[in-house]
Amino acid sequence: MRNLLFRNIFRTPLTESPPDPSEQAVRALAETLDRAARRRLGRSLCIREVDAGSCNGCELEIHALNNAYYDLERFGLRFVASPRHADVLLVTGPVTKNMREALERTYNATPAPKWVVAVGDCALDGGCFAGSYAVVGGVSEVIPVDLHIAGCPPSPTEIIKGLLALLEPAKTEASAP
Ligand code: SF4
Repeated sequence: MRNLLFRNIFRTPLTESPPDPSEQAVRALAETLDRAARRRLGRSLCIREVDAGSCNGCELEIHALNNAYYDLERFGLRFVASPRHADVLLVTGPVTKNMREALERTYNATPAPKWVVAVGDCALDGGCFAGSYAVVGGVSEVIPVDLHIAGCPPSPTEIIKGLLALLEPAKTEASAP
């Protein structure tokens, strides 16, 4: 016991090095996103996440937006529990046959104006699950999609950039290389 105590006192922390990009870059991106949301909506952005059948890899990246590093809520960007309070539906995964009706009902319950963002390669066309007997296909097979964020899975920073592109399409296109 004493050995263990001494070892733990002198051992260096087993934490991972911080991810790229820098805290400043994430902060600048999130602040720009918040400003764009307030310009378009007069308030911050409310997001409802819908897992339509993903492997949960995309969810891990989306959940990271709320962790201590990204902490999107400090900029007023919020995940909400009900589609009735949402501006954006963030939909992941291929749409499974079991989730088709739930996705349609969630879309219908979201008040206009609303945007649908399909997150991840599976949300585009079913990805590696395409052709499965249990899968309908990409999100656009079931509801209209405004933006697709590619990746398997996309990183939290790519998701923030995608949301920004949704709110400021003209500016993003103009600044594209
Ligand atoms: S895009 Fe990749 S991480 Fe996301 S649900 Fe599909 S397989 Fe999983």
